Amino acid sequence: RILLNSVLDTARENAKGIALTIQDITREAELNEAKSQFISNVSHELRTPLFNIKSFIETLYEYGDALEPEQQREFLETANRETDRLTRLVNDVLDLSRLESGKAYAFDAVDLHQAVDQTLRTYQLNAKDKGITLRQEIAPGLPTIWGNYDLLLQVLANLIGNALKFTHEGTVAIRAYCLDECDLDEQAQMVRVEIADTGLGIDVEDQVGVFERFFRAENRVHTLEGTGLGLSIVRNILEKHGTQASLVSEVGTGTTFWFDLKVFHPATVIGNMSLDEL
Ligand code: ADP
Repeated sequence: RILLNSVLDTARENAKGIALTIQDITREAELNEAKSQFISNVSHELRTPLFNIKSFIETLYEYGDALEPEQQREFLETANRETDRLTRLVNDVLDLSRLESGKAYAFDAVDLHQAVDQTLRTYQLNAKDKGITLRQEIAPGLPTIWGNYDLLLQVLANLIGNALKFTHEGTVAIRAYCLDECDLDEQAQMVRVEIADTGLGIDVEDQVGVFERFFRAENRVHTLEGTGLGLSIVRNILEKHGTQASLVSEVGTGTTFWFDLKVFHPATVIGNMSLDEL
């Protein structure tokens, strides 16, 4: 009986090992599948602007002389626009793959007021052209938060850029305030950041998909810009900050995206640093 039990124990251990190996293989297969799906999507997305650029340049090259100067200009403008689209796509794909490469990003105390100011400066002209008011509502005395400044700039740029892209009139407001009272003596303080627009809104069915790569909601027919990668970049960066974005939206009324970030405490830093260094 002792021998039989020991044989059974060994068999059980082996079976456990096999189950774990099968799990690993399945996980690896899923990752590979996701990777090749991504590559196939990227190739598909790259092909469209490339095809358009080639067609317009080829037509100009072959038949340019027969075209009116106005038409020639129109063709060149389209080729230029498509080149911009291609650049945006390549930049987004590079950003995403850098974020997923496992590279370590340095965290520090981040002044959100400064980050919002810096982002809004780049969008001011665009908002003015569209007749949209950009409003900044940062709570006075907002504490610094714990994060990576450059990555958070990118989150703000993507969300504010989207808000402007999908809004034709009204306001885009950026708010930052403490959840509960901002008492620096307490450890678990959070700052909430909101980007609210009075734009097209997102259909309820589309809302769950917006953070997926290359996802574009129905409302996208209203704009040619965009790669469908902006919000997956946002999701990835916020995950690195141990948080995620949520949204509330109503078609025809507007959309609000928000996320919470940890307030910076010197004690938290020491804690995190020693954890990182381990
Ligand atoms: P894109 O480059 O197309 O903007 P994103 O990943 O940033 O890609 O967004 C995905 C889709 O979510 C957009 O194509 C759009 O349909 C929808 N979306 C994102 N932000 C907004 C917004 N503020 N208002 C309305 N729709 C939005």
